[in-house]
Amino acid sequence: MRIGIDLGGTKIEVACLDRDDREVLRRRVPTPRGDYAATVAAIAGLVEGAEHELDVRAKVGVGIPGTVSAQTGLVKNANSTWLNGRPLRDDLEAALGRTVRLANDANCFAISEATDGAAAGFATVFGVILGTGVGGGPVVDGQVLHGANAIAGEWGHNPLPWPQREEWPGPRCWCGRRGCLESWLCGDAFARGAAQGREPALERYVDRLARGLASVINLFDPDAIVLGGGLSNLDALYERVPQRWPRYVFSDTVRTVLLRNRHGDSSGVRGAARLWEDGEPVRAQGQAERRAGGGRSAI
Ligand SMILES: [Zn+2]
Repeated sequence: MRIGIDLGGTKIEVACLDRDDREVLRRRVPTPRGDYAATVAAIAGLVEGAEHELDVRAKVGVGIPGTVSAQTGLVKNANSTWLNGRPLRDDLEAALGRTVRLANDANCFAISEATDGAAAGFATVFGVILGTGVGGGPVVDGQVLHGANAIAGEWGHNPLPWPQREEWPGPRCWCGRRGCLESWLCGDAFARGAAQGREPALERYVDRLARGLASVINLFDPDAIVLGGGLSNLDALYERVPQRWPRYVFSDTVRTVLLRNRHGDSSGVRGAARLWEDGEPVRAQGQAERRAGGGRSAI
């Protein structure tokens, strides 16, 4: 039995997968926003409640916003900013009395969709979250790439490429920089654009997303890109974004496909549970970090 936790900005969700990857339990609680100790306690409570209900002791994987610093072991880059600078893995391990694996939530999403979701069967996959935050996770041959600095796929804090005059320098991002893709492509940005209505908001959003993803294709050249998060429900994206790619991608043809996720909101917890696959373990950040200085960039 594997337990996956998806620690989100508004809710914390738990799911249990059995040996055949069937989901046998799912629960959720509101995230105690701004309260770190209560967040740790809520996660521990969900795990203990699930184990009590199912009468099992499970391996636990946790998808978090941000990532664990290979330097310090503390959370960094989380838009749920009360987690930043905190020893979340150590505290969860102490609370639960076992080793816990943590990984970026977009990476969990990407693992889930590349394994048995919309992008199953594609060799290289880039999973994208378009929600409260914007992030990504690269998967190669079924293995998520964490990277030397545990930030592989952190595409949301690159600047919007090919900016137009009125897009410069762009909105201020919570990370301290301006013009980050996240600040253009997150749910709030889409809502703000729709409220202004100078030019069709969807059209502007499509073009910005096309530019952002074109920069991913130029760098990583994935076979498939899978969209998750609230804005992945916009039907128009799947047709109109690829139509724009030829303007920006440095190639005569663009064979990369843009896919809607299969597991929806469930991919966060499913991918987190998959941080403990049987056989060759997926090397999560928890492990990568213990190898501090190891320097391998791929699993
Ligand atoms: Zn930023």
